[in-house]
Amino acid sequence: MDTQDSASSNQASEHTLAILSFHKIGEPSPNGWETWFYIPEATFVGYLSYLQENNWHVIDLTTFVRGLTRPEILPKRSALLTFDDGYQSMLTSTLPLLLKFGYPAVLFVPTDFIGGRNSFDADCEPDEAICDWDELRELERWGVSVQPHGASHQRFSELSLAQQEEELHHSKDSLEAGLKKHIEVFCYPYGDDGGNPQVITQMLQRLGYQAACLYGGDPISLSIDQKAIANPYHLPRLAMGPDTDLKAVLEPEVTASAVS
Ligand SMILES: [Zn+2]
Repeated sequence: MDTQDSASSNQASEHTLAILSFHKIGEPSPNGWETWFYIPEATFVGYLSYLQENNWHVIDLTTFVRGLTRPEILPKRSALLTFDDGYQSMLTSTLPLLLKFGYPAVLFVPTDFIGGRNSFDADCEPDEAICDWDELRELERWGVSVQPHGASHQRFSELSLAQQEEELHHSKDSLEAGLKKHIEVFCYPYGDDGGNPQVITQMLQRLGYQAACLYGGDPISLSIDQKAIANPYHLPRLAMGPDTDLKAVLEPEVTASAVS
Protein backbone atom coordinates (compact mmCIF):
# COMPACT_ATOMS: atom_id res chain seq x y z
CA MET A 1 0.00 0.00 0.00
CA ASP A 2 2.73 2.42 0.99
CA THR A 3 4.81 1.39 -1.98
CA GLN A 4 1.91 1.91 -4.38
CA ASP A 5 1.13 5.30 -2.88
CA SER A 6 4.68 6.57 -3.21
CA ALA A 7 4.95 5.04 -6.68
CA SER A 8 1.94 6.93 -7.96
CA SER A 9 2.98 10.19 -6.28
CA ASN A 10 6.49 9.81 -7.75
CA GLN A 11 5.09 9.31 -11.23
CA ALA A 12 2.93 12.43 -10.93
CA SER A 13 5.68 14.65 -9.54
CA GLU A 14 8.18 16.62 -11.59
CA HIS A 15 10.96 16.52 -9.07
CA THR A 16 12.08 14.28 -6.24
CA LEU A 17 14.32 15.29 -3.36
CA ALA A 18 15.75 12.36 -1.43
CA ILE A 19 17.59 13.16 1.80
CA LEU A 20 19.73 10.15 2.69
CA SER A 21 20.75 9.69 6.31
CA PHE A 22 23.94 7.80 7.21
CA HIS A 23 25.91 7.40 10.43
CA LYS A 24 29.17 5.43 10.06
CA ILE A 25 30.94 4.19 6.92
CA GLY A 26 33.56 1.47 7.39
CA GLU A 27 34.35 -1.02 10.13
CA PRO A 28 33.83 -0.57 13.90
CA SER A 29 36.97 0.35 15.87
CA PRO A 30 39.03 -2.65 17.17
CA ASN A 31 37.17 -3.08 20.48
CA GLY A 32 33.77 -2.38 18.95
CA TRP A 33 31.11 -4.52 17.30
CA GLU A 34 28.94 -4.36 14.21
CA THR A 35 25.61 -2.54 14.43
CA TRP A 36 23.12 -1.52 11.74
CA PHE A 37 24.60 1.98 11.81
CA TYR A 38 27.89 0.82 10.25
CA ILE A 39 27.87 0.51 6.47
CA PRO A 40 30.81 -1.32 4.82
CA GLU A 41 32.76 0.88 2.40
CA ALA A 42 31.91 -1.39 -0.55
CA THR A 43 28.19 -1.10 0.20
CA PHE A 44 28.46 2.68 0.49
CA VAL A 45 30.29 2.83 -2.85
CA GLY A 46 27.41 0.75 -4.27
CA TYR A 47 24.93 3.40 -3.09
CA LEU A 48 26.97 6.25 -4.58
CA SER A 49 27.38 4.33 -7.86
CA TYR A 50 23.64 3.74 -8.00
CA LEU A 51 22.99 7.49 -7.65
CA GLN A 52 25.58 8.30 -10.30
CA GLU A 53 24.35 5.71 -12.81
CA ASN A 54 20.68 6.62 -12.44
CA ASN A 55 20.85 10.37 -12.94
CA TRP A 56 20.49 11.32 -9.30
CA HIS A 57 22.23 14.67 -8.74
CA VAL A 58 23.90 14.96 -5.36
CA ILE A 59 23.34 18.57 -4.32
CA ASP A 60 25.23 20.66 -1.78
CA LEU A 61 23.76 22.43 1.23
CA THR A 62 23.53 25.80 -0.53
CA THR A 63 21.50 24.36 -3.41
CA PHE A 64 19.34 22.47 -0.92
CA VAL A 65 18.56 25.62 1.09
CA ARG A 66 17.79 27.60 -2.09
CA GLY A 67 15.56 24.79 -3.28
CA LEU A 68 13.44 24.99 -0.12
CA THR A 69 11.74 28.13 -1.43
CA ARG A 70 12.45 27.60 -5.14
CA PRO A 71 11.96 23.88 -5.76
CA GLU A 72 12.09 24.48 -9.53
CA ILE A 73 15.87 25.06 -9.35
CA LEU A 74 16.46 21.54 -8.03
CA PRO A 75 17.53 18.85 -10.51
CA LYS A 76 14.70 16.44 -11.35
CA ARG A 77 16.30 13.79 -9.18
CA SER A 78 18.08 15.48 -6.28
CA ALA A 79 19.81 13.70 -3.43
CA LEU A 80 21.28 15.27 -0.29
CA LEU A 81 23.78 13.05 1.55
CA THR A 82 23.66 13.61 5.32
CA PHE A 83 25.71 12.00 8.09
CA ASP A 84 24.81 12.15 11.78
CA ASP A 85 26.93 12.51 14.91
CA GLY A 86 30.30 13.59 13.48
CA TYR A 87 32.24 10.34 13.77
CA GLN A 88 35.94 10.57 12.96
CA SER A 89 35.37 7.92 10.27
CA MET A 90 33.73 10.75 8.31
CA LEU A 91 37.24 12.03 7.61
CA THR A 92 39.09 8.72 7.36
CA SER A 93 36.59 6.50 5.50
CA THR A 94 33.76 8.59 4.09
CA LEU A 95 35.44 11.70 2.71
CA PRO A 96 37.86 9.83 0.38
CA LEU A 97 34.89 8.00 -1.15
CA LEU A 98 32.82 11.17 -1.51
CA LEU A 99 35.77 12.84 -3.21
CA LYS A 100 36.11 9.97 -5.70
CA PHE A 101 32.57 10.70 -6.84
CA GLY A 102 32.91 14.47 -6.46
CA TYR A 103 29.93 14.51 -4.09
CA PRO A 104 29.26 17.15 -1.43
CA ALA A 105 27.64 16.19 1.89
CA VAL A 106 26.26 17.49 5.17
CA LEU A 107 27.49 16.45 8.61
CA PHE A 108 25.28 16.98 11.68
CA VAL A 109 27.32 17.25 14.90
CA PRO A 110 26.22 17.41 18.57
CA THR A 111 28.41 20.32 19.58
CA ASP A 112 29.10 19.34 23.23
CA PHE A 113 30.93 16.25 21.92
CA ILE A 114 33.25 17.87 19.37
CA GLY A 115 36.71 16.37 19.98
CA GLY A 116 35.22 13.79 22.38
CA ARG A 117 33.57 10.38 22.23
CA ASN A 118 30.01 9.25 21.40
CA SER A 119 29.03 8.77 25.07
CA PHE A 120 25.47 9.91 24.23
CA ASP A 121 24.99 6.46 22.59
CA ALA A 122 26.98 4.50 25.22
CA ASP A 123 24.11 2.09 25.92
CA CYS A 124 23.70 0.95 22.31
CA GLU A 125 26.65 1.80 20.05
CA PRO A 126 30.40 1.02 20.32
CA ASP A 127 32.72 3.72 21.63
CA GLU A 128 33.98 5.92 18.77
CA ALA A 129 35.79 9.24 18.43
CA ILE A 130 33.94 12.36 17.32
CA CYS A 131 35.74 14.85 15.06
CA ASP A 132 37.57 17.73 16.72
CA TRP A 133 37.45 21.32 15.44
CA ASP A 134 40.42 20.93 13.09
CA GLU A 135 38.85 17.83 11.58
CA LEU A 136 35.52 19.61 11.10
CA ARG A 137 37.32 22.49 9.36
CA GLU A 138 39.12 19.98 7.14
CA LEU A 139 35.79 18.39 6.18
CA GLU A 140 34.36 21.83 5.40
CA ARG A 141 37.31 22.54 3.09
CA TRP A 142 36.47 19.41 1.08
CA GLY A 143 32.77 20.13 0.61
CA VAL A 144 31.18 18.68 3.74
CA SER A 145 28.95 21.31 5.33
CA VAL A 146 28.91 20.94 9.13
CA GLN A 147 25.54 21.75 10.75
CA PRO A 148 24.15 21.28 14.30
CA HIS A 149 22.61 18.12 15.75
CA GLY A 150 21.84 19.75 19.12
CA ALA A 151 24.43 20.38 21.79
CA SER A 152 23.92 17.50 24.25
CA HIS A 153 22.30 15.03 21.80
CA GLN A 154 19.23 14.54 24.01
CA ARG A 155 15.73 13.65 22.86
CA PHE A 156 13.70 16.85 22.64
CA SER A 157 10.64 15.12 24.10
CA GLU A 158 12.63 14.69 27.33
CA LEU A 159 13.49 18.41 27.51
CA SER A 160 11.49 21.47 28.55
CA LEU A 161 10.74 24.08 25.88
CA ALA A 162 13.41 26.33 27.41
CA GLN A 163 15.95 23.51 27.20
CA GLN A 164 14.99 22.78 23.59
CA GLU A 165 15.55 26.42 22.71
CA GLU A 166 18.89 26.36 24.49
CA GLU A 167 19.94 23.30 22.42
CA LEU A 168 18.99 25.06 19.17
CA HIS A 169 20.64 28.30 20.20
CA HIS A 170 23.82 26.98 21.77
CA SER A 171 24.67 24.47 19.02
CA LYS A 172 24.17 27.11 16.31
CA ASP A 173 26.29 29.70 18.13
CA SER A 174 29.02 27.20 18.81
CA LEU A 175 29.40 26.13 15.15
CA GLU A 176 29.13 29.69 13.88
CA ALA A 177 31.96 30.75 16.20
CA GLY A 178 34.12 27.68 15.58
CA LEU A 179 33.69 27.47 11.81
CA LYS A 180 33.14 31.18 11.08
CA LYS A 181 30.10 30.63 8.91
CA HIS A 182 26.34 31.01 8.94
CA ILE A 183 24.35 27.99 10.18
CA GLU A 184 21.10 27.14 8.39
CA VAL A 185 19.90 23.59 8.98
CA PHE A 186 19.19 21.70 12.21
CA CYS A 187 18.93 17.94 12.75
CA TYR A 188 16.85 16.63 15.69
CA PRO A 189 18.75 14.03 17.78
CA TYR A 190 17.00 10.65 17.28
CA GLY A 191 14.64 12.45 14.89
CA ASP A 192 12.67 13.58 17.98
CA ASP A 193 11.20 17.07 17.51
CA GLY A 194 9.70 17.22 21.02
CA GLY A 195 6.14 16.48 19.93
CA ASN A 196 4.96 20.04 19.37
CA PRO A 197 5.70 20.81 15.71
CA GLN A 198 4.30 24.35 15.68
CA VAL A 199 6.25 25.47 18.71
CA ILE A 200 9.56 24.02 17.51
CA THR A 201 9.02 25.50 14.04
CA GLN A 202 8.56 28.97 15.56
CA MET A 203 11.69 28.55 17.67
CA LEU A 204 13.76 27.44 14.67
CA GLN A 205 12.48 30.36 12.58
CA ARG A 206 13.19 32.85 15.35
CA LEU A 207 16.77 31.59 15.65
CA GLY A 208 17.38 31.91 11.91
CA TYR A 209 17.25 28.28 10.83
CA GLN A 210 15.95 27.57 7.32
CA ALA A 211 15.17 23.87 7.79
CA ALA A 212 15.32 20.90 10.16
CA CYS A 213 15.64 17.17 9.50
CA LEU A 214 13.87 14.21 11.06
CA TYR A 215 15.14 10.61 10.92
CA GLY A 216 13.32 8.13 8.71
CA GLY A 217 10.79 8.65 5.95
CA ASP A 218 10.46 8.66 2.18
CA PRO A 219 11.79 10.83 -0.65
CA ILE A 220 10.00 14.19 -1.01
CA SER A 221 7.90 14.56 -4.18
CA LEU A 222 7.66 18.05 -5.64
CA SER A 223 5.32 19.29 -8.35
CA ILE A 224 6.61 21.77 -10.91
CA ASP A 225 4.31 24.59 -9.78
CA GLN A 226 5.08 24.13 -6.09
CA LYS A 227 6.16 27.42 -4.50
CA ALA A 228 8.11 25.91 -1.62
CA ILE A 229 8.89 22.62 0.04
CA ALA A 230 6.17 21.83 2.59
CA ASN A 231 7.16 21.55 6.26
CA PRO A 232 10.83 22.55 5.89
CA TYR A 233 11.29 22.16 9.64
CA HIS A 234 10.17 18.52 9.53
CA LEU A 235 11.97 17.04 6.57
CA PRO A 236 11.92 13.23 6.26
CA ARG A 237 15.21 11.43 5.63
CA LEU A 238 15.78 7.90 4.35
CA ALA A 239 17.40 5.90 7.16
CA MET A 240 20.33 4.19 5.42
CA GLY A 241 21.80 0.91 6.70
CA PRO A 242 23.88 -1.91 5.19
CA ASP A 243 20.75 -3.75 3.96
CA THR A 244 18.87 -0.79 2.47
CA ASP A 245 17.55 -1.44 -1.06
CA LEU A 246 18.19 2.05 -2.42
CA LYS A 247 16.68 1.30 -5.82
CA ALA A 248 13.43 0.07 -4.23
CA VAL A 249 13.25 3.17 -2.03
CA LEU A 250 14.05 5.74 -4.72
CA GLU A 251 12.23 4.20 -7.65
CA PRO A 252 9.43 2.04 -6.22
CA GLU A 253 7.40 2.11 -9.46
CA VAL A 254 10.29 0.58 -11.44
CA THR A 255 10.91 -2.11 -8.83
CA ALA A 256 7.17 -2.89 -8.52
CA SER A 257 6.73 -3.41 -12.27
CA ALA A 258 9.95 -5.43 -12.49
CA VAL A 259 8.69 -8.02 -10.00
CA SER A 260 5.08 -8.22 -11.23
ZN1 LIG B 1 22.50 11.46 16.42
